[in-house]
Amino acid sequence: MIELPEAVVLSNQCNYWLKGRKVDFVVVNSKPHKFAWYIDEGRHYQKLLEGKSFSYSTNIAGYLCLYFEDVQAIFHDGVNLRFIETEAVHHNHQLLIRFTDHSQLIATVAMYGGLYVTEKGVIPTPYMNMSIENMNCLNPDFTYSYFISKASDNMSIKAFLATQQRFPGIGNGVIQDVCFYAGLHPKTKIKDCSESELRHLYEKLVSTVREMIALGGRDNEKDLMDHPGEYKVLMSNAQLKNPCTKCSGSILKENYMGGSIYFCPRCQPMKKA
Ligand SMILES: [Zn+2]
Repeated sequence: MIELPEAVVLSNQCNYWLKGRKVDFVVVNSKPHKFAWYIDEGRHYQKLLEGKSFSYSTNIAGYLCLYFEDVQAIFHDGVNLRFIETEAVHHNHQLLIRFTDHSQLIATVAMYGGLYVTEKGVIPTPYMNMSIENMNCLNPDFTYSYFISKASDNMSIKAFLATQQRFPGIGNGVIQDVCFYAGLHPKTKIKDCSESELRHLYEKLVSTVREMIALGGRDNEKDLMDHPGEYKVLMSNAQLKNPCTKCSGSILKENYMGGSIYFCPRCQPMKKA
């Protein structure tokens, strides 16, 4: 999944690799995918993009935004984006952007994901609008008082951090390590945390996301060149077989709020007032 760290890393890489390239042609949905989301089923993507030169790339929280003159291509959620410099033929993709020098950008969707090509400046989904309205945790003005103003007593830590785009670009992937470093169980309610625990959570959110970016993303996600990031994720499916790095106990997995949570029951005890 593209979360905030991956969106930043991918955007930097696109600025480097796509510079000076011009779109030759576009192929939309060559392998139909039920949960690949397009604007108007991608009917206008060719007309919009073909002949346009890459201008620059940026991210709006967890949305990767590529600009081609007056057109934008926005990628979100479970889109895997790869750049290849050769003209090797690929068929199984949800969007292919081929450049005049035969290099290509290939987007595939894992479980679900958005690939939105529109005129520049359009906000393709209401969900993205929420990402724009809320401050992301890399902003210098993202203070503890802003962070805690988004909380309410009965929310769990997971609901607080990862839903409603309160913290744009932060999803269920990134928060697992944040909760671990903060020593908080993802199901613990805000009202059962002390102020110092919530301050610690705030600090770990900011520092963990920054570290993920500095290390080129998480090691369970791949970058534009198909390389995994160097940030070692501690709380994930792949780590279930390994002991907790703090106490050597077992890491547990549970389903909670439509996704898996990973935690160490000793280092992240469930708190109840
Ligand atoms: Zn532990």
